[in-house]
Amino acid sequence: MKESMKFIDLHTHSSASDGTDSPAQLVAKAHAAGLAAVAITDHDTLSGLDEGQQAGRDLGIEVVRGCEISTGTELGELHILGLWLPQNPQPLLDRLCWLREKRAERNVGIVQKLQDLGYDISMEEVLAAARGESVGRPHIAEVLLRKGFAKDVRQVFREFLGSRGKAYLPKTVLEPEESVSLLASAGATVCLAHPLLWRAPAGWLDTMVARLKDYGLSAIEAYHSEHSEADIRTCLALAKRFDLGVSGGSDYHGSNKPTIRLGQGYGGLRVSQSVYEGLKQRRMSAGLDI
Ligand code: AMP
Ligand code: FE
Ligand code: FE
Ligand code: ZN
Repeated sequence: MKESMKFIDLHTHSSASDGTDSPAQLVAKAHAAGLAAVAITDHDTLSGLDEGQQAGRDLGIEVVRGCEISTGTELGELHILGLWLPQNPQPLLDRLCWLREKRAERNVGIVQKLQDLGYDISMEEVLAAARGESVGRPHIAEVLLRKGFAKDVRQVFREFLGSRGKAYLPKTVLEPEESVSLLASAGATVCLAHPLLWRAPAGWLDTMVARLKDYGLSAIEAYHSEHSEADIRTCLALAKRFDLGVSGGSDYHGSNKPTIRLGQGYGGLRVSQSVYEGLKQRRMSAGLDI
């Protein structure tokens, strides 16, 4: 493969949150797939990053330290990715710890609802299904599936855990502005994740991007498994209009989302190494470490 043909993946989940590969396994798969760089972006935790980075050094693939934070707006969730996080970003670590405590309370509530509905499931089983410190609905789903209470993950979310499910409880989320400034203060590249996952009314996203740029937003995730060619073009135009960087990744979750492959999404995703170089260039211009 020519050097110019290399690809990257800047959005992945390991077993530190709701992926199924350990950070080292994930990095080994990225290396085996021929990727030039991979970012580990677990929900609400940085606990997989040291292991992933060590694996990257051993194998010779660049591993970017990242995370993903869910935020709430009046219309729906917006996810924010932090990339190139430093070793110990203290205020951020404290806030993520608080979010995980809120997750724990919510998980107990969801399990209680399931028990009240007559399903035999315990918090011990959920914690055993989780291998990392960020625990959530996918781990509850795994237990429900194993016990035969649903036929597949889709049904679990439709019937029990999704926003219209019988055991649904909302998640405590941060404001987008706070998430962006926490990540920006840590020196991260702050990236709006999969902005076109749901259809916001015309103009809403532009206003939000303009607003978040004031708080330190620095990039838009244009390339994503759930983005169509038209979505990608919309994001590239948005990035250009607001002078923001462009990022891309698969949102790989291992066998929790078995049809999404590292670096390839559903098969057609290709994020060029030039995207990675572009983000690094922007960091250098801003005087940030890479
Ligand atoms: P939580 O953070 O606990 O609310 O769980 C959210 C995670 O559940 C997402 O990041 C996905 O990994 C997963 N998820 C959400 N909806 C679905 C779905 N319909 N099917 C499969 N996984 C889902
Ligand atoms: Fe997830
Ligand atoms: Fe997300
Ligand atoms: Zn994600």
